[in-house]
Amino acid sequence: MTTRRTTRKIKVGNAFIGGDAPVLIQTMAATKTFDVDATVATVDYLAQSGAGLVRIAVDSINDAKALAEIRKQTTANLSVDLQENFRLAELVAPNVDKIRYNPGHLHHLEPNLAWEKKVEYLVDVAKEFDVALRVGVNCGSLDPTKLAKYRDQLANGDAGAQENDEAAAVFDPLLESALEHVDFLDSVGFTRYCVSIKDSDPETVVLVNRRFAALRPQIPLHLGVTEAGAPPRGVLKSRLALETLLAEGIGETLRVSLTVEANQKAKEVEAGRLILENVASGNVIDPSTRLPNLNIVSCPSCSRVQNGRFVELARTLEKATEFAKDYPFKIATMGCRVNGPGETDDADVGLWCGADKVNLKSGSTTIGSFGYDEIIEKAVELLQEKIRLYDQQAK
Ligand code: SF4
Repeated sequence: MTTRRTTRKIKVGNAFIGGDAPVLIQTMAATKTFDVDATVATVDYLAQSGAGLVRIAVDSINDAKALAEIRKQTTANLSVDLQENFRLAELVAPNVDKIRYNPGHLHHLEPNLAWEKKVEYLVDVAKEFDVALRVGVNCGSLDPTKLAKYRDQLANGDAGAQENDEAAAVFDPLLESALEHVDFLDSVGFTRYCVSIKDSDPETVVLVNRRFAALRPQIPLHLGVTEAGAPPRGVLKSRLALETLLAEGIGETLRVSLTVEANQKAKEVEAGRLILENVASGNVIDPSTRLPNLNIVSCPSCSRVQNGRFVELARTLEKATEFAKDYPFKIATMGCRVNGPGETDDADVGLWCGADKVNLKSGSTTIGSFGYDEIIEKAVELLQEKIRLYDQQAK
């Protein structure tokens, strides 16, 4: 049996995260938030499937208005993630139980206002409307100053927290960003929050969360592997990270992010339940289980997806690139312009979807924009070219 650690306990609607509360399973609705009927039906279905908290995307005043209507029609615990527009907090807070903010996104709007002032504002809103916060740090949207600092250090030969330079370049800014924000929240006397530190690499998720848990053992952790991809690969990646951490007693809430259609999101809840059952029975996955060399990541999709073909596209690309499974490349497929451009920057073949076109990238370089019917062929061509160069160098 795993001995769970005891963290602070925070109230989220009629549920709790941390303390003696059971691990809370979360998921996210991927319906259009303005489609109130569809979103309410999805939220209720997900809550009945076992989600203790359902997240909704809100990007505009119209979404915030729809959220107020959704709140009236469901008793499920709701959370919202703020992207760049942190000022939406005061509009959404009356209608949710938790707000997630991303430290890496606080730098975009009102750049002359210090991030501390922005967090103070979020804390004031959270107190006024009786909601919890999540500090959600993510590899694809890191604080740019931290990324630059660690890249400089590595370039100067100053080793980071890990032996592998590439991993350290992500690991250290992830950890530093989380520590900076929790220390600030504590300093202003706000403790009703949890933290997530997500990466698309399960091993990094384990290392960074383990380290954070050792440094700040009182703070509840929300576990997840970002952009884990479609099942079964997405479930495998999530199991590798989450079962390992939970078996060590680390983790108070979790979300398994899977690239599935909006009406299939209960699969995230099922995968979360499987993970908890495996941990409870001691049947956890071997942490040394190897993933294929070809690293395929894709976002779970959400209300922000601009074209309903995104999930099918991600799945088709995964099949179309099976031939390259032994090559050490990364393919990233993202559903929208909000996180797509940033989260494809480190991919050998990156795709991010717009309304009618899909943008194809090689690292941070954009190759072009292609229609949904031609993008697979273009992406495979790019991958074949990478393989050709790789094989040439290996000779
Ligand atoms: S990349 Fe866009 S569509 Fe995909 S989960 Fe993130 S915000 Fe949603």
